[in-house]
Amino acid sequence: MVRSREWVESTFGRFAWRDKPEKRGAIEILGEWERRNIVSIAPPFELRDGRGRPVSVLRCHRLIAPPLTRFLTDLHRRNLCHLINTFDGCFVPRHMGWNPRRPLSRHTWGIAVDVNARLFPYGSRARQDERLIAAFARQGFTWGGKWRTPDPMHFEVVDLPQPARPLAILLDGEHLVGGFLHDGRAVAPVREIAEAMGAAVEARMTEGEIEIHTPGGDC
Ligand SMILES: [Zn+2]
Repeated sequence: MVRSREWVESTFGRFAWRDKPEKRGAIEILGEWERRNIVSIAPPFELRDGRGRPVSVLRCHRLIAPPLTRFLTDLHRRNLCHLINTFDGCFVPRHMGWNPRRPLSRHTWGIAVDVNARLFPYGSRARQDERLIAAFARQGFTWGGKWRTPDPMHFEVVDLPQPARPLAILLDGEHLVGGFLHDGRAVAPVREIAEAMGAAVEARMTEGEIEIHTPGGDC
């Protein structure tokens, strides 16, 4: 699964940009977007880049800081830190493949992560360790290795798990019942709400249906 550019921009923001003349394929983000959205996180275990240098901070989009931290903590807890041989970048404002004729890479938004680049180069059909792919997937990252032109070092966010938030449902100013907000949708008990409004509820769970009969609706 790959998300559209529209989803990326509506979720992580839009910015103006221009090509960087001094580095082919790199871009410069104009305005305040970077300062407002890119944050630094400290990895919970030692990471090294492709040249063997320690990576003490990861710069990523503020909305993926929690899932990226959970991913790293999860690897650490499962004693799977060795699955990241090298950490090869997250927030890097650039075109795909450093090619100025191609669209902007998801690294520009700080929502993609490259790992083990030397072992899993762009175009290679080599498969990263299943446990690494699964740990990323649990936090909403898809793996680039199964794309038409595989990019097996690359993982990017396609799903942003949102914690459910409690929601109070009021009827004419009075608290009626509690529900919660999940993924931007209100999830609430149908029967309480419908009955409070004078309707009858018929649950047909084996068919996976709930029918609301409005008062005087079907006589
Ligand atoms: Zn990448």
